[in-house]
Amino acid sequence: MTIYNFSAGPAVLPKEVLQQAQAEMLDWHGSGMSVMEMSHRGPEFMGIAAQAETCLRELMGIPANYKVLFLQGGASLQFSTIPMNLLRGKKSADYLNTGEWSKKAISEAKKYATVNVVASSADKNFSCVPEFAEWKCDPEAAYLHITPNETIGGVEFNWLPDSGAVPLVADMSSTILSRPIEVSKYGLIYAGAQKNIGPAGLTIVIVREDLIGDVLPGTPTILDYKTHADNDSMYNTPPTFAIYIAGLVFQMLKRHGGIAAMEQTNIAKAGLLYAAIDSSNGFYHCPVALHNRSRMNVPFTLKEAAFDGEFLKQADALGLLQLKGHRSVGGMRASIYNAMPLAGVQALVAFMNEFAKNNG
Ligand SMILES: *Cc1c(COP(=O)(O)O)cnc(C)c1O
Repeated sequence: MTIYNFSAGPAVLPKEVLQQAQAEMLDWHGSGMSVMEMSHRGPEFMGIAAQAETCLRELMGIPANYKVLFLQGGASLQFSTIPMNLLRGKKSADYLNTGEWSKKAISEAKKYATVNVVASSADKNFSCVPEFAEWKCDPEAAYLHITPNETIGGVEFNWLPDSGAVPLVADMSSTILSRPIEVSKYGLIYAGAQKNIGPAGLTIVIVREDLIGDVLPGTPTILDYKTHADNDSMYNTPPTFAIYIAGLVFQMLKRHGGIAAMEQTNIAKAGLLYAAIDSSNGFYHCPVALHNRSRMNVPFTLKEAAFDGEFLKQADALGLLQLKGHRSVGGMRASIYNAMPLAGVQALVAFMNEFAKNNG
């Protein structure tokens, strides 16, 4: 039976990448050892890391005045690292509140800064993104933080607020590499790797050079972006194996037509799943506003919550795994990141149609 893993993260990885890693596991390119055993300062691993960065730069079109940092601590550590680095003498920062991850970023930033919440969809149960006309931005803010895809709520937006000279900071943990973006519009982009890139343990930060080097007093050396920028992310031991796998994912994306090609598949996958929900005569329901529906994380409820247990049981038996919704939302959530093949979504949709027919 083919297993399809709809987990929100750590999530499915491309099979061809896992196979390559398997083939190279015991003896990487004739080195006689596994990547896990290599010194991070040896030529083999330095080459692996440099290639991963070059490949990511090509894929995303990252301009030369941006640093790419391979860090640890997850996206969650960035919630505090960002204010420590980007306040740069200012006292306040702007945050958009679109859901659970925005809320976490906001509460952490409050330890270091006055947080101005420019707009919030809390009163709409985080089912949409507030229109830009409603945002109350502060032109003096140190930066403006957004979460372009709320992984838990399944709320995504792809337009950019006009933040003027205020640097835009985006938590792209669950949307990075899923669609083309223009990096130069951002001051800083960050993402934990375990959703759309590779294994857990690696966090990627893409930051404009002029924003680094002026940290809050008391900032630990290891949380200063400049420390990592000046040391090619080798100030201390980086998450070597995760960087290696991420590099293989980047190469795989390049082989398959890059991010633009990936986006087309993602549009097809999400379209198929939302169509199944919308054509179910109310058996399935997605609470997210039409124009803010995520391509990556698709939350939906069943007509009666009493069906949830049976739905999950039958799905499991068919190899459709990890569909249970986040504990804070309930219902179901299908995460359909880059590495989820179209066939996985087709199998899910076939099961959903059948289940609705039998229980509707
Ligand atoms: C998963 C996630 C996080 C937290 O990531 P960690 O790497 O577990 O710290 C933060 N933001 C978003 C949008 C996420 O999806």
